[in-house]
Amino acid sequence: MHEKAAVLSSPGEFSVRKAQACILARTSPLGVENIALERALGRVLAVDVRANRDLPPRDISAMDGYAARAADIADAPSTLEIVDDIKAGDLPRAVLQSGQCARIMTGAPLPAGADTVVRVEDTRPAPDGAVEVLVPVQTATDIRRRAENMRQGEVVLAAGAEITPGALGVLATVKQAAVTVYQPPRVAILSSGNELEALRAPFDPDKIPDSNTYALMAQVQAQGVEPCLLGIARDDPAELAGFLERGLGYDVLLVSGGASIGVHDYVRPTLAALGVTLHFWRVEMRPGHPVAFGVSDRGLVFCLPGNPVSSMVCFEQFVLPALRALGGHRRLFRRTLPARLIHAIKSRPGRVEFVRVTLARDASGLYEASSAGSQSSGDILTMARADGLLIVPGASKGLAAGDIARVQLLEAGAYQEQAELEDEP
Ligand code: AMP
Ligand code: MG
Repeated sequence: MHEKAAVLSSPGEFSVRKAQACILARTSPLGVENIALERALGRVLAVDVRANRDLPPRDISAMDGYAARAADIADAPSTLEIVDDIKAGDLPRAVLQSGQCARIMTGAPLPAGADTVVRVEDTRPAPDGAVEVLVPVQTATDIRRRAENMRQGEVVLAAGAEITPGALGVLATVKQAAVTVYQPPRVAILSSGNELEALRAPFDPDKIPDSNTYALMAQVQAQGVEPCLLGIARDDPAELAGFLERGLGYDVLLVSGGASIGVHDYVRPTLAALGVTLHFWRVEMRPGHPVAFGVSDRGLVFCLPGNPVSSMVCFEQFVLPALRALGGHRRLFRRTLPARLIHAIKSRPGRVEFVRVTLARDASGLYEASSAGSQSSGDILTMARADGLLIVPGASKGLAAGDIARVQLLEAGAYQEQAELEDEP
């Protein structure tokens, strides 16, 4: 209700972009720590990591077959004497002379004298320990060259790289059993409001279930951080101050509710009394208008609107980039992709609108966005259905069916039901 009652654009109100810049200007990576590789997924490297050897360490075969001298087999068919049998992990013993070859397995090192590999499919056994090569071989495409994947000393992952499964494989390749990563931020979450009912409190039909604590918890967890849940503070300045003081001991405090213009919205004045400098309050966005951001001598405070969707949308725009910046990430923002609107969307100019949408693909492969349902800032059900948030720019009066708009992917938007490896016949 407060959001609806608020004026369209009041003086000092920040744009989303300006609010993000304000937050990120006050956010830098926390300390570093050394952790076992097994625990490193999702963390961010704080140092450059270099290759500790050439890989492959020698020229190796990419196929099961015969290492040979190209000059011997330029004309086919030709017969070669087999003088060695080299398995992966073996070192070659023989030096190939003209007319000789070595049986070789994938990953095994080439013997001296060999400059090509003949695939086993292109040969057949010949009498007296020989092999007949059936096709002429001119090129050496089946050899993986020494250091073609990485060269000793070269940077294979730079500081700031997120440790994805692929990066973790690289770290194992260069034998980093422990890695130096940025510390994750410590995050506390507080809900506020007399009407709120705790998750495990007895059911009271007149109360409002506290969903924000858990939706925000999940958004934080999705960033690889386990937050501390402080619980529910009533709309009482003294009680609120106690909770907020505890929360200010963390790198990031998220408070939802009580930050609007109601007479019992005590969060902002209580934070100010505790020494928090508030840098903005209200952002030109919908949902999420009455959002505030402040800084204490210890960390960051986000006052998120109480409406369940507003708090989640504000998390996406403001808290997520801040958490990622604190954690040392270089990619701070959600991926966006263009999508064609299936239907018109009305919008009042003056605020950027974040519309919950589901995504599908049309026959040409372009994404199509349609509303996930009710866009009420209290309707958490449509948040659960949404693949992304479609952005209606602040200057716009709305978008028409067929318009291309930008969609910020949510966690759920990264997955789809069909594999779609190629076009269906
Ligand atoms: P407020 O920002 O305190 O004015 O709250 C706005 C709306 O959000 C009210 O309808 C509240 O009941 C609701 N609300 C506030 N906090 C929560 C919460 N933790 N979980 C679910 N709804 C909430
Ligand atoms: Mg309230």
